[in-house]
Formats: sequence, C-alpha cells, structure tokens
Amino acid sequence: MENEKSLADAVKKTNLTPKAIISQKYGNKACYKVEEVQESSEKGCPGLAIPQKGPCRYRCILQLPEITIESGIFKRKKDAEKSAAEMAIEKLGIQISTDSRTPQEASDLLVERLTYLFSNEFLSSDPPHPLSGHLRAALGREGDLCGLVPLSVMAVYDSRLNNLCKCINPKVESNPFLVIPLIMGAASRLPELVATSEGQLSIWRKNLYPPEVIESLVDQQSGAPQSNLVEAIHIPCSQEKAIELVILDISSTGYYLDVIAKKLDLTDAAKVLISRAIGKASSETRLYFAAHQSYLIEPSSDHTNAKEALHSEVSLNARASYLSSQDIYGDAILASIGFTWRSKDLFYEDVSVQSYYRMLINKIPSGIYKLSREAVLTAEFPLAFTTRTNWRGSLPRDVLFTFCRQHRLSEPVFSSISTPLKAVSESPGSSKKLKVTDSSEEDTERASGGAISTDARESVESAVSYQCEIKIFSRSQDLIIECSPKDSFKKQNDSIQNTSFKIISWLNMYFKDLDLPSEKLNSTANDLDVQFSHENFLKEFVLSRSIHTVHHTETEGVKFLEPNTMSMLNTMPEQGVQSLNIEGPDSGVFPSNGSLLCISYSVFLVTEGEHMKENLESNPEFEFEIGVGAVIPHLEAAVTLMSIGQSACFKMELPPKEFILAAAVNSARTLSLLSSKSCCLEYSIRLLQVTEPLEDRMEQALFSPPLSKQRVEYAVQHIKESGATTLVDFGCGSGSLLDSLLNYPTALEKIVGVDISQKSLGRAAKILHSKLSNNIGINSAILYDGSITDFDSRLCGFDIGTCLEVIEHMEEEQACLFGDVVLSYFCPKVLIVSTPNYEYNVILQKSSPPSQEEDPDEKTQSQSCKFRNHDHKFEWTREQFNHWATELAAKHNYSVEFSGVGGSADLEPGFASQIAVFRRICPPQGEDLSKNADTEHHYQVIWEWSSSTSSS
Ligand code: SAH
Ligand code: MG
Repeated sequence: MENEKSLADAVKKTNLTPKAIISQKYGNKACYKVEEVQESSEKGCPGLAIPQKGPCRYRCILQLPEITIESGIFKRKKDAEKSAAEMAIEKLGIQISTDSRTPQEASDLLVERLTYLFSNEFLSSDPPHPLSGHLRAALGREGDLCGLVPLSVMAVYDSRLNNLCKCINPKVESNPFLVIPLIMGAASRLPELVATSEGQLSIWRKNLYPPEVIESLVDQQSGAPQSNLVEAIHIPCSQEKAIELVILDISSTGYYLDVIAKKLDLTDAAKVLISRAIGKASSETRLYFAAHQSYLIEPSSDHTNAKEALHSEVSLNARASYLSSQDIYGDAILASIGFTWRSKDLFYEDVSVQSYYRMLINKIPSGIYKLSREAVLTAEFPLAFTTRTNWRGSLPRDVLFTFCRQHRLSEPVFSSISTPLKAVSESPGSSKKLKVTDSSEEDTERASGGAISTDARESVESAVSYQCEIKIFSRSQDLIIECSPKDSFKKQNDSIQNTSFKIISWLNMYFKDLDLPSEKLNSTANDLDVQFSHENFLKEFVLSRSIHTVHHTETEGVKFLEPNTMSMLNTMPEQGVQSLNIEGPDSGVFPSNGSLLCISYSVFLVTEGEHMKENLESNPEFEFEIGVGAVIPHLEAAVTLMSIGQSACFKMELPPKEFILAAAVNSARTLSLLSSKSCCLEYSIRLLQVTEPLEDRMEQALFSPPLSKQRVEYAVQHIKESGATTLVDFGCGSGSLLDSLLNYPTALEKIVGVDISQKSLGRAAKILHSKLSNNIGINSAILYDGSITDFDSRLCGFDIGTCLEVIEHMEEEQACLFGDVVLSYFCPKVLIVSTPNYEYNVILQKSSPPSQEEDPDEKTQSQSCKFRNHDHKFEWTREQFNHWATELAAKHNYSVEFSGVGGSADLEPGFASQIAVFRRICPPQGEDLSKNADTEHHYQVIWEWSSSTSSS
C-alpha cells in the first residue's frame, strides 16, 4: 500500500516506529487492545450449512485521550498494532519530523499521494479512509456533478496530503486554503488520471472506476435511502445578527456537502470551504463557508495588506474565526458531520445553540474549568492550587493543554529541574516549600506499631526536589509565554501543576478583563513568575479582543444576542446579590475557610415578577472548598452565612450570556426569556454537608505518612497480631480502615462497619464492593446505619472492635455511654479507641500547613479554631483520656494500655493521636451472651456482602 510505504519513509527518517511516535506523544495514555477476529471463510463449500472457520486474525483497538482507533484485520498482532498506530498518526495529523524533506521531494510525494487517493484500491479501503467516503459520495452526485470531488475536502480529510502541502508551502499553516492551488498543480502532473477545474474548485477521476469496484460499494449500502435531520448552527458574518439553529436534511444517498452548500446559498459542494475540526481533537465539528477565489491568493509577506484585500471583497466572520482560530469569511455553518475512520457510514451529530456557547467559553481558562466541573453558572477557577484533594475540576496542567489546543498554539513545553535535597532535620516552619501531598501507595508497606513516629519534623523523605518551567509557543514557534517559578516541590507532578496553575491564572486574569492596563498585566505577570512577549501575545489573541469588545457598540433590541464580554463574571461587585433568604433551623455547624462543602443547587432564569422561570443548571451534590474562590463569589458569600441543613435563595444580575446559554438546555426558551424585559438569575441552594478539612490537611501535611494512615496501620497491626476472625469498626465513616484491611492477609472472616452517616456508608459500600470479590479470606461484610451508643445483638461476641477518631464527635456523656455499651454488651476481646490529643494542638497550630503561603487566611483560621475540626465536641488531654479509659476498663473487667501515633510517648506533648487498647480479662459468662442474643436490632443493614451470594 502506497500509504504505508510513504509513511514508512517518513518513519525511517526519524528512526521511529509508528508505535514509538505514539508512545512519545502519549506515553502510557495510549492503550492498545488486540482482539481476536474469527472470520468465517468466504470460500466455504457451497451447501455446507456450518460456516467454516477461517484462520485466527487480529484487530487492534488503540485508545488515545482524544480518539479511539480500530485497525483493520491482520494475521499478526504486531501488524494490527502497527496499523492502528499509523492510522492514529494520520488521523491526528501528528507531524513526523520532515526536516530533511525538500519542497521538491514533497511535491513528488504529493503527486504519488494523489495517484493513490484516486486508485481503485483507495475507494474501497478498509478501514474506510475518511476521504474515500467523499469519493464514494461524489459518485452518487447527480447530473454533471457526478464524480466531482470538491478540492476543499482533499487536504481536510487527508492529513498526509495536508502535511505535504505544508512542506511545499509553509504558509498553508496560516491559510489552509492554499492547498487548493497546490493540489491543482499536482493534478496537472497526472493528466491521465485526474482533471481539475479552477472555476468549479473540483477534482475528478478521468476514467470510471471498474464496475466490480462500484458494485462492491453498492453491496455495502445499507438499505433504502433514509432522510436524517441534523441540527447545525448558522453564524452570520455580521455580529449584529444572532446565531441560529438550522436543520440540515441529510439523506443517505445524496452528498451532505451539497446540502450545506444550499444553506449557504451556494450552487454546490465545491463552493464550500471547510475549516479544521473544532473543539475536541476527535470531533467532526467544523465550520462551512463560501469559497472565494481570493483565498487562493497567497497573502503577501505584509499580512495586514493581504487581509485588507480580502476584507474589501467579503468580511471576516469574527465569531467563526475565533472559534476555529482560522480566518473564516462571510456567513458560516457550524455542523458536526463527516466521514470518519470508524465506519463507511456518514457520521453526524446535532450541534445545538448550547454546544456553540460551550465551544465559545471553552476557549478561556475559567470556561474550561467550569465545563470540566459541569457547573457553568456556579464553579469558578480557584484562586490557588492547593493539594490535589481539594481541587475539584480539571487539573491545571490539563486546563493548560486544552487552552493551547483551543487557541491552536503548540503544545506547552515542560522542563523539570530536580535538585538533590540534604536529608537534614527541618522544622515544619522552614520546610514550607516542600509540599507534602498525598503520599499514596509508597508507604503502605511501612512497618507500624512503635516504629511509626515519623512526622515531618523528623524525616525529609524524598532525596530530590523538583522545579518546573513551562514555555508556550505559537504554531510558528514564537515564544509567547514563559513561566519559571523558583518554588520547589517534593513531587514532580506538584511542580508541574503549580507552574501550569500560574500561567493559567495569569491568562484567566487577562480574559476576565481584556481592558486591563498593560502595567497591571505586567505586574501580575511578575507576581506569577510569568514572562510574556507583548507582541507575540497580542498577535495570537487579537481576535479574542475583537470578539469581546464588541459589546461597546451595543444596539437596542439585540442586547442579549451580541457576544458580550465574558470578562465580568467573577469580578462583579457584591451588590449584584439581591434578597438573600435563608430558611431552616440553625444547626450551628457553619462552614469556614478551608471547609469542604457539599451543596445541592438549582439556578433559574427568572423574569421580573417571577412570571416565568427556566431551570438552567442543577446539581444534587456539588462539592467545593470554601475560601479559595472555587465558586462564584455570590454563592460563596451566601453559603458562609448558612449552617448545615439550611436552604437559601438569592437573586443575581445576569452574567454574560455566553455562560447562560452554555448552561441552558432549552436554548430557544432561554433566548425568548432573555429577550423579555428584565431577567435575573435565581440560585436556590441547600447546604448538605460541611467537612472541616483543617484536621485532615494538617494530618496530611505535617505527618508522613499522613496521621490517618498511621492510625489505620496501627489498628491493622493489632488486628493481625490478635488473630481475630470477626471485626466491628464503630464509626467506620467512609470505610478507610475496612478498606485497608483488605490489602493485608489477616485471619478475618467477617467484617462489619457501623456509622450514622448514610453518605459515608454509601462511599464505604462502593469501595468495599469493588474490592471484596478479590479477597479470599473474608466471607462476609456488612455495613449498618446506626448509633454506636445503641446496642444491637447482632454485634455480640465479636473478636475485635475499633473506633478511630469517633468519640470526639459525640458529647462526652455519649462517649461514656458508648464505652459502657461496647464493653458490657458487645464484649469484644480487644477494643481499640483513638482520639486527638488536645495538648498536641499547640504544635499543629504553630506549624502552618503547606498551603499557607497561598492562602494567608488560613493561619488566622487555624489559630482561632480551638479544636482540630468543627465537628469535634471535645478534645481530651492525655490525662482526660487516661481517666476515661482506665475507669471504663476497671468497670468492665478489661485491661487497658496507652499508645498513639504521630510524635512519641516520651516527648512532650505526647502523641498527636492517642490510642487506648482494651483487652478482656475473662470471657463473659455464657448466660450474658445468650441473654443478649435476643433479637434486639437497632441498626439497619445498609449494605451486605457474602462470598456465597456474590459468587453466583
Ligand atoms: N473511623 C473513621 C471515621 C472518623 S470520622 C476514620 O477513621 O476514618 C467520625 C465518624 O463517626 C463519622 O463518620 C461520623 O458519622 C461517625 N459518628 C459520629 N457519631 C456517631 C454515632 N453516634 N454513631 C455512629 N457513628 C458516629
Ligand atoms: Mg475527628
């Protein structure tokens, strides 16, 4: 196959195999799956009822972040993989370095390529080449148009052709339509094979395809002609005119480009030009617009002159050009239709008004973030990048990649610098820059027991620290932005995210206020370690200015239909909020900075007097961190006045309509409401949950491994040593202990968790469910909803009970009651109870969490917080805890031993988490057990698993 050969040529030049090229670009994000294909032999004996089995063949599915490719069928697995990689390279137009290729060589290859594209073999290529779809469709065109292929589709659907053209004339990069004269030039070297006509902008094969080729195509046609209605968007050139929905009637026999041509008032498909794909890399969404001869004029070196020349004839469609980062002139249609590698059938999808606006806001960093959170009217790009756990949307690095792709810039270039660290003792205060985020898997196997006294003061774990520098170049490799912060991080990924965050924040600020004076732009850049080339920056983003400043020329009547600025949304003054109304009893649990909130909300568009109401956006469970600007300021302001369980309602001035329409599913209704006299947004929210993460955060940042992990490991160690076969975790929460237990071999057969939080239990169930089927030892697991101060006979006589960081969440007398209930009724052989050591708080509060440098409020916050967590009802000193435990043990005939994790017993102020281990001295009298075995069921089974039922 010619295709393979010339690709192979290019590959040879770079000394890379197709798989290596894919792996260089995607690393382990590229996933190859090889399937066996059993083909029934086509040349089976006539009359044989059973199809004969052919030899085993292979097909490869290559999954890349933006696309899934399915190879053809091959005898060898290796070939299937190679073919999938080659297809991906072609499809995504991945540039194989062609430095050594001269324009002359490229011209020759172009002729060769054209020969192949018009060969018999290409027309029925399998898997279907997207361009072959057009060739097939062209054969179905009527009358004189039969067989005529629009020149514009040639390079758009064959990236190899396109790359060759770029090599011949690099200006194709900025004006893709310059490929047309190049293809005509190549065609003129093939007078036997093809003909072109400049007037018609078409190319066609001179000789008819042999009948057998045509017949094989007819065979594949799926039945009777069908008519399909596809929604598309008409983008008028004049910005005064609104974009609107158009319906394309695509029939399975006609050529869809002819249908689009009609909508654009053009005679036929050849007069339609096609943009690059917009949006996601795998998308088929493109802009279609009228061809003018002037596109084919090579712009002179003086760019503006050339543009003006065009301008005089037909003007630039700013909205369409902005969307595609490509010059589009005149009216345009945005549609998602096309031939793909996936199927011989035409692919099509509706493009709604909503999708148009989503594409529009997906060009700015905050829009990218909002969409990733699926909360366009609510989420906001946070002001700081803290730890991964508190970052809810796309990570900064991913936002940066999307941004560069959306603006057709080169991929950002990352360079990482690692510096060896001296393993000296450092106090937490001085090791500020060594961010400690989740030290996930690495530490799981660490020993526990007495050996876990490793907090951040005593060990600097990793031997290197990382800095990251990022550069962003234009397509033509001009440096636009550079960010090289001095901050170093223990983890490479943290350094990458933080540098990405700085660039994105700066860009976001630019898009928020396009009229920002340049001194301000410069000084903010300075603060964020960003350097940028004014000239190159403006060159790339000039169109965004022209789109977003249009609102100054607002005219009556079309007020809402104009692309107004996207800049105001999160800089709107607080007085934008009206009539905040909070309902429901005050539960006393308020969120504060650093809390993680869970709310349910709905946003409505309401007209004056609330005669009309349209739901724009809803979410039954939306989580965000408070104090980092992760939501629109109005929402954050409202929610800080609420306590758990309360609902609130407030009204707000309209944000820019891009956001409203990007959120609204029913665009027509929303537009009609917007055009009525006066509208505002109404937010209706309910505060479902507040998690005070200060404790978690300190536990993570100041202890290594995190304190919570140390507690779990301590418990796991005791459970292992005890040889217990049954276990109850009292106040199991989201099941962190039960989950960890499944990672170790133990003697356990039955595990139970009890908690009063259904939400936590739900999470626990999810985790356990996914893990249990792989565990051989445990044959039963149950989660109960119930208060651990209540007795339930089903938990009698368990071997071991654990209760980690729970008692401080109850009133003191309830904690005493729990102790009595457990030791007198449940009577486990061993009970492990942990709770914070109040005396250790001084240390925690003195040591700033690492995120402190980005969030100056937090220190004041942590000092004003008496306990580690707002939900704590008490925190005991060592003496108080000893007192409670010793009394309890004596009362119920248990022994007790004290220990802890974080810090050490001998060093003031003791452990960060104090732990009591109770041991039953003599077994309970038989009658007690039988007495309690009565069915006293106060807990409700939330979830149950057993190895016998699950194996079916
Ligand atoms: N043991 C878990 C969770 C600790 S958080 C861990 O170490 O990760 C405290 C938990 O105690 C919460 O999940 C809370 O819902 C639960 N809790 C508080 N009072 C309770 C009670 N009376 N009965 C049962 N669970 C309770
Ligand atoms: Mg707690």
